[in-house]
Amino acid sequence: MSTSFDELPVAVIGGGPVGLAAAAHLAEREIPFVVLEAGDGPAAMVRQWGHVRLFSPWRYNVDAAARRLLAEAGWVEPDPDVLPMGAQLADDYLRPLADVPTLKPHIRYDSRVVAVTRLGMDRVRTADRASTPLLVRLADGDDLLARAVIDASGTWATPNVLGASGIPAHGETQAAAYVEHALPDVLGADRDRFAGKRTVVVGAGHSAANTLLALAELAGQAPGTSVVWAIRSTSAARTYGGEAADALPARGALGSRLRSHVDDGTIELVTGFAVQSVEATAGRVRVSGGVGTITADRIVSATGFRPDHTFVSELRLDLDPILGSTRALAPLIDPNEHSCGTVPPHGADELAHPEPGFYAIGVKSYGRAPTFLLATGYEQARSVVAALAGDWAAARDVQLDLPETGVCNSDPVLDSDTITSSGGCCGTTAAAEAEPAGRRRAPLTLISVTETGGSDQAGGCCD
Ligand SMILES: Cc1cc2nc3c(=O)[nH]c(=O)nc-3n(C[C@H](O)[C@H](O)[C@H](O)COP(=O)(O)OP(=O)(O)OC[C@H]3O[C@@H](n4cnc5c(N)ncnc54)[C@H](O)[C@@H]3O)c2cc1C
Repeated sequence: MSTSFDELPVAVIGGGPVGLAAAAHLAEREIPFVVLEAGDGPAAMVRQWGHVRLFSPWRYNVDAAARRLLAEAGWVEPDPDVLPMGAQLADDYLRPLADVPTLKPHIRYDSRVVAVTRLGMDRVRTADRASTPLLVRLADGDDLLARAVIDASGTWATPNVLGASGIPAHGETQAAAYVEHALPDVLGADRDRFAGKRTVVVGAGHSAANTLLALAELAGQAPGTSVVWAIRSTSAARTYGGEAADALPARGALGSRLRSHVDDGTIELVTGFAVQSVEATAGRVRVSGGVGTITADRIVSATGFRPDHTFVSELRLDLDPILGSTRALAPLIDPNEHSCGTVPPHGADELAHPEPGFYAIGVKSYGRAPTFLLATGYEQARSVVAALAGDWAAARDVQLDLPETGVCNSDPVLDSDTITSSGGCCGTTAAAEAEPAGRRRAPLTLISVTETGGSDQAGGCCD
């Protein structure tokens, strides 16, 4: 007997924090679902930055439906004020969540999605579109049918290029063996690639700052280690933030640590450097950027991420031409406007595409905007699942339960086992106070200030 359209599962692409949150909400609403995760376990991308400490404490990193399912399974929630490492987020929350009995049988690992379309039609055909199953193709050739698709596949696998003009620098592809993408484990698994070597870090956001601080620490341990920091801007002031005068003490502390390493010469800062070409030569790499050429052993490219829309290109998407989010979401997250960000809560309405039953949520939903927070993604998941359940009242009752302080604690202290949120890092804007409760603009001030465009396009949490 064939399965009717309404009996088909919702396919969730990606078993990261937001994909698993969507699964938890689907399970609570008893909507059939399948999670398709490319990795061999949950949170494959988070595990890649497992050595990095989150800047938001546990209380904002756990989805509400996930918390309820985990509580039923006897889970003991970590101290809400502690800032976990990425590995702790994966091991202490996402692995147990993926293993709860209502989720586990519905998660498929080693299942990379390579295409999504409508069964028997390309994106030109209009008739019967909404009632025709979505077809999800996996890398192993398997096809699955779904009544809706939630794309929570993130952006980690598609980093931005080094080239300042948004296209690869001359020679960038040929020199790939010398280029590391964001957040190598400088003090851990990847130490040998950096110890005693000269590394140039390109970028001005959170990833660059983390890597620079780790390299500066390594320079104190391993003789011969040297660090160059290349930014396109003419000043690092925006990355340093307000330091002691910063309304956000933790952000100020991070900026101060960076500045002091620059001042004492541990980090050599090169400003006005817009990467144009990269050349491997005699076992080293030369990177040229208008104001000069830097020769190093390694390059760390911390220039942000881009969403990959290629595998959903047979769907009818309404993408913002700049950010690659939905057009409705773009003005709410535009880094040109939200450098110290206030992002209103948003949900199914803002995330909808012309394609019925298709939503991108999580960090991918922000496209190139670097200011995504898990708490925002969890609210997206709740709202989208409510919409798929036909519960539009709940879908539209979007809220962001972020307090005025303590959300974005941004001092990634790397040398202590238990780091707690110091609070006080997120100010309340006048606009926020003017909004009615429930639709309030949540203060999402992040670690550093956005420089838009090109290789310094960075400055949020996930760049
Ligand atoms: C270093 C770092 C620190 C951060 N710290 C914080 C913080 O403190 N607080 C905060 O709120 N946010 C933080 N963020 C931002 C954001 O919350 C994280 O990036 C978060 O992991 C995003 O979750 P996600 O589920 O949207 O995407 P991801 O975690 O990237 O998960 C996507 C999943 O999809 C899978 N996948 C990808 N492509 C496919 C495919 N084609 N088929 C099947 N599966 C696929 C991946 O394997 C992965 O498991 C941080 C980000 C980074 C990089």
